[in-house]
Amino acid sequence: MLDAYRFAREAGCREGRLALAELPRLADVLAQTEGWVDYRLSGLTGERGQARLRLQVTGRLLLVCQRCLDAVAHDLAIDRLLELASEDSAPTQEEMEDDGVDVLPLDGMLAVDALIEDELLLSLPIVPRHAECALPVTAADSGKAHPFAALAALEHH
Ligand SMILES: [Zn+2]
Repeated sequence: MLDAYRFAREAGCREGRLALAELPRLADVLAQTEGWVDYRLSGLTGERGQARLRLQVTGRLLLVCQRCLDAVAHDLAIDRLLELASEDSAPTQEEMEDDGVDVLPLDGMLAVDALIEDELLLSLPIVPRHAECALPVTAADSGKAHPFAALAALEHH
């Protein structure tokens, strides 16, 4: 847990490594939970005194290809700027003047692990799949209509 407002005010910096096995919500979408991500969290102050955090995360996740259900590597390169605001007075994204900055509603302490897990989940592709999937080309891909091709693909599993 981190006193995020103070961390921002004091321009704090924290670097660390987080094991994927310790991120239960992320585990659901991973093909395997071995490995880790590296993160760097920096505190900064905006032009009008806003408390902000910059979160950078790198690493490689193995997701499940939604086509062949095999593992597909996803390289992370997260770099996010978050503005802290109390739950009551948090500006909406429309009210924020700065593009590229997102609001993080927060009244007290920040759970850094949970924040990183949230950002990881947000950064993932909605439908992960291999750029060149090993699964045989189906009718939908080849453009040739074959009514049973899609069914055959399903039966493959
Ligand atoms: Zn695939």
